[in-house]
Amino acid sequence: MFDLIVKGGTLPDGRVTDVGIRADRIVAVEDLGAAEAGRVIDATGDLVSPPFVDPHFHMDATLSYGTPRLNASGTLLEGIALWGELRDIATVDQMVARAVAYCDWAVSMGLLAIRTHVDTTPDHLRGVEAMLEVKRIVAPYITLQLVAFPQDGLYRRATGRKNLIRALDMGVDVVGGIPHFERTMEEGAASVRDVAGVAAERGLMLDLHCDETDDPLSRHVETLAAEVTRLGLGARAAGSHLTSMHSMDNYYVSKLLPLIAESGMCAIPNPLINIMLQGRHDTYPRRRGLTRVKEMQGLGITVGWGQDCVLDPWYPLGTADMLDVAFMGLHVAQMSSPAEMARCFGMVTVDNAKILGLQDYGLHPGAEASLVVLDAGDPVEAVRLRPDRLCVVSRGRVVSEKARNDSRLVLPGRPGSVRRRHRG
Ligand SMILES: [Zn+2]
Repeated sequence: MFDLIVKGGTLPDGRVTDVGIRADRIVAVEDLGAAEAGRVIDATGDLVSPPFVDPHFHMDATLSYGTPRLNASGTLLEGIALWGELRDIATVDQMVARAVAYCDWAVSMGLLAIRTHVDTTPDHLRGVEAMLEVKRIVAPYITLQLVAFPQDGLYRRATGRKNLIRALDMGVDVVGGIPHFERTMEEGAASVRDVAGVAAERGLMLDLHCDETDDPLSRHVETLAAEVTRLGLGARAAGSHLTSMHSMDNYYVSKLLPLIAESGMCAIPNPLINIMLQGRHDTYPRRRGLTRVKEMQGLGITVGWGQDCVLDPWYPLGTADMLDVAFMGLHVAQMSSPAEMARCFGMVTVDNAKILGLQDYGLHPGAEASLVVLDAGDPVEAVRLRPDRLCVVSRGRVVSEKARNDSRLVLPGRPGSVRRRHRG
């Protein structure tokens, strides 16, 4: 007897099978025949995947688009200035309400684990207070990791470092930083060594906004990789964005990538935001500003796609759909072979789960019973269609459902409906 059976779906690896769930655990991944269950979900012909994971987000700013004004230039720097205004007028209640509303969107899209950076710059730390409350509210259905993020730099303000430590003491999970935004290259490198030391000392994970610039001489990822190796942080450390690598000299990169691989650290490009914000100082040709994804993967470096922003000072769009992120990443990184396209689906699921260090993630007996049923035949088709999430299960409970919604055609001699499916 099972609490829930997801019947006849296609797993990302191509197996067609049933998934049996008891309480909050997957207990069987095999043909369950006519086994009884409290509820059976028919997933015949549909893709059954472990949930989507977002390794890079800003939940303290989300759904604030247009408040207190729009980002007129569309640049990263105006976005940071705009956020500087908003964070001091937004109340804890407002930030909690916006973030929890975003989490509703996330659940409906099968996005059940999110790492979000929370700005630790203001002395009032209202954003930290708000995000800790959000983490508590959504804990029954979303895994939320908070990163202490000194948006204005660790050293640019007198209280930058102190407030980061205060946030960690309040219960924030991960150590952050922004070396390219410090006043000088030297202070940037010093900030990397500083926060890496804090992470090692406290036994925490490390995730820096690193080299989010088109300046090819922004090389803080080099210091980050060296510190991760020296401190033995491995996959518990990540560099987010790494956009300067797009513009770096190829000879230098031929030395840099093996250093990153040696360290075991992960990389988190954010393709929607990188393609929107980078290259803004260029005329033509205009740089894409996405880091070197395939080259890093070729050396065994774990690379995940992050979303970064939805309707905030930096980005006027966004839907909480990690398949939008994978779709954009696939195009900008030109990951167009069948294996590379499938890899893009893996990046927003298993690779991102590895970056967050999620235990019990996946579709195997003993894993946490969280999954999503998609109206697609396989992972590549899911990236192509970014289809409806027919059913989302979090820790054994159905938390979101959507009826299949084919278009009805009214054409002489043609079928009565169309789904745009090509597989399955
Ligand atoms: Zn970010």
